[in-house]
Amino acid sequence: MSGSYAVPLTEIEVTEADVAAVMACYESGWLTMGPRTKELEAAIAGFCGVRRTVAVSSGTAALHLACRAAGIGPGDEVIVPTLTFLASAHAARHCGADAVLADSTSAGDWNVSVADVARRITPRTRAIVAVHLFGLPADVVGLRALCDRHGLVLIEDMAQAIGARYTDGTPCGSAGELACLSLFSKKQLCVGEGGAVLTASDERADTVASLRSHAMTSGTWDRHRGHEESYDVVDLGHNCRLDEPRAALGLSRIHRLAADVAARRQAVRWYRERLADVEHITVPGDDAAVERSSHLAFPVLTGSHDARVALRAGLGARGIQTTRYPALHTLTAYGDQGADGSLDVAATLADRHVCLPMWSHLGEDVVDRVCDAVREVAGGR
Ligand SMILES: *Cc1c(COP(=O)(O)O)cnc(C)c1O
Repeated sequence: MSGSYAVPLTEIEVTEADVAAVMACYESGWLTMGPRTKELEAAIAGFCGVRRTVAVSSGTAALHLACRAAGIGPGDEVIVPTLTFLASAHAARHCGADAVLADSTSAGDWNVSVADVARRITPRTRAIVAVHLFGLPADVVGLRALCDRHGLVLIEDMAQAIGARYTDGTPCGSAGELACLSLFSKKQLCVGEGGAVLTASDERADTVASLRSHAMTSGTWDRHRGHEESYDVVDLGHNCRLDEPRAALGLSRIHRLAADVAARRQAVRWYRERLADVEHITVPGDDAAVERSSHLAFPVLTGSHDARVALRAGLGARGIQTTRYPALHTLTAYGDQGADGSLDVAATLADRHVCLPMWSHLGEDVVDRVCDAVREVAGGR
């Protein structure tokens, strides 16, 4: 799985039990959304402590349907951090709304600045998307207060943050009216492609469930079981269903998710210990943040654009794969925002960071090897 790198960016462990669960699903002869999807929804709801979960075909679909269930449409504005994966902002645009980008907080807290979000609220603002970047929850207390004051919907993009906790210790997924999960292959709970919308609202859950399957009043599984003989169509829906083999894989994996997240935390503790005294490299966050985050990735900050380029090249030459996230306002599709310098904190973080290899059960020996390489490449600059 590691391609041409001795140390890949991430590795996925698929156990014999995972394979057996998927094979049993194929042998059952029922492949589209059915009982395993329902079971996975219940398991995710239980894990995150949220009343309802609706499984969908991707994290992107989860965000899109969450925006629709939030009533977002043409003429609306949705505030989204510029430092995120583009799907966080595309969802609102697919509903005909404008994505208004907001800056990061600081070099110590890369999540969205509540003060900057507040400055961007207008009479057209309908919702705020809180992204929990790299697995560390954003300031949901501050964002929740803003939403309550201005009558906005809070949508959490927790694609990178299943298993994380807010500052009060509550599992991530319950601060917003809706929260969106990704089951993409790089994420903590991965099945290949998949996602879910979490919500305490039956009405919103029912809307998402309806829109994921063409807004038909009955599903294939219901009709197969003879519960419904026909259907009506009540809205313009999509096909965003999850299929059963992937639900089976998710169910098999969710039982070890808490242990996987704990293992990611241990890897981060090793990284932080070993990188603490490397010159020209800053590791964001503090010990409390480490214990709250579910660590999709491990980013470090270099001192300049050139140092970032050199670090990635130097690690690549040593067989170590890395990645980085561009700020959305530096991409062509979002290029007209941030010209006034108001997104510069995020722009600088995006330009200077490098994400080092991270996966659950990443070994201490691999962390040593990566950190030695970082010291060699960056330490002398
Ligand atoms: C991965 C990701 C998504 C999209 O999820 P997919 O399952 O790949 O569609 C959305 N937002 C963030 C922050 C992500 O990291």
